[in-house]
Amino acid sequence: MTSDSDEGKDGEALRLQDAVGRIEAVMDNAAEARFRSTARQARTSAKRLIWLQRAADIVQDVVLASKAVPCGSGCSHCCAIPVAITQAEAFAIADFAKLPRPSQPAAAITGRGVLAQEQVVEDARDEAALAHMGEPCTFLVDGGRCSVYPARPLACRLHFSLSTNSDDCRPDYFGQSPRLDVFDRNLDNILTLGLSQPVADIRDWFAQRKQV
Ligand code: SF4
Repeated sequence: MTSDSDEGKDGEALRLQDAVGRIEAVMDNAAEARFRSTARQARTSAKRLIWLQRAADIVQDVVLASKAVPCGSGCSHCCAIPVAITQAEAFAIADFAKLPRPSQPAAAITGRGVLAQEQVVEDARDEAALAHMGEPCTFLVDGGRCSVYPARPLACRLHFSLSTNSDDCRPDYFGQSPRLDVFDRNLDNILTLGLSQPVADIRDWFAQRKQV
């Protein structure tokens, strides 16, 4: 005999499976792989980043078109959770926002630590990685607009909730609400940009709130 709660869990699992299936059915894997391959061949981290952004944007376009996620303009809960970015991304944001390129934050990590951080952020376990939990991103303005949207980090481009209710994305539910699994993509981003790239939270790279 199954309980109401077991049936509820089974129903939710089926719903998530269906949502992921709908996304995967229309994903242009070949185009994404082509952009990722081009990124790996680019000579500088800045150029590699541009191709990785294009690969991430393919995923975003498909996910949003699938209507399998509640993400939409004006919702910014995910802009108050940890947002780990590389130096290449920090420089791209600074250039876009016409800010001086930031120096490496004291909290930055590199090399194998980056891989550990990636796992840690995915698992939502490490206190250092969660230091900025609940703190709005430096570039969040007008109650929910990203002021550096064209230059936003890869982590932001690839963060998609699979919940039916955007309230589940609030920082106090971090790690509990269902998200599209992009672990492999995040890992590939870090490996492609290079393990010598310092990585830190966007709020450590850019401490001051900036209107752009
Ligand atoms: S860079 Fe933009 S999308 Fe990313 S967390 Fe900051 S405000 Fe949100």
